[in-house]
Amino acid sequence: MAVVYLSLGSNEGDRQVTIQKALVGIEAACGRIAAQSSIYETAAWGLEEQPNFLNMAVKIETTLTPIALLDALQQIEAELHRQRVVRWGQRTIDIDIILYDSELIEMPRLQVPHPRARLRRFVLVPMAEIAPEMIFPGTNESIAEMLEHCPDNLAVHKIA
Ligand code: ATP
Ligand code: CA
Ligand code: CA
Repeated sequence: MAVVYLSLGSNEGDRQVTIQKALVGIEAACGRIAAQSSIYETAAWGLEEQPNFLNMAVKIETTLTPIALLDALQQIEAELHRQRVVRWGQRTIDIDIILYDSELIEMPRLQVPHPRARLRRFVLVPMAEIAPEMIFPGTNESIAEMLEHCPDNLAVHKIA
């Protein structure tokens, strides 16, 4: 059984409903949700002229391999009507694999730990809520320390 941390985000449509549907899909297709953060409202990162996101982090236990997990998550994104228009653009749902056990994965389709996680408060703030002490694979820093050193200053507010 692998322990995996996922980051979910939505900034189009009914964001809260879409995130709930994604959680149901994750439990059905990927494995048990062992922990989940609060939901946060966050300013868009990368392409900033777009609606705010809702973001959260979840810890799951899965028997899927990393690529099988990515396939399952992309299937859930497709079912929730995500259109892949521009990178970092508006979307009904985005589900990223942040950590997969302590594995370091460098494949064309999949890099884990997610290479931009440490640059994003909207990823680190929810992660720090459920796993503050965990050392980020490939570094000597805990999630909480990584958040302290994060250069991002976009707003991230807990809503639920
Ligand atoms: P970012 O990766 O910067 O968060 P994004 O989530 O907007 O950007 P997408 O369009 O959702 O980017 O995904 C582009 C590709 O990223 C996916 O098709 C997938 O193959 C690849 N990818 C690489 N590493 C990961 C990962 N850790 N989790 C999810 N997708 C990944
Ligand atoms: Ca993403
Ligand atoms: Ca993605």
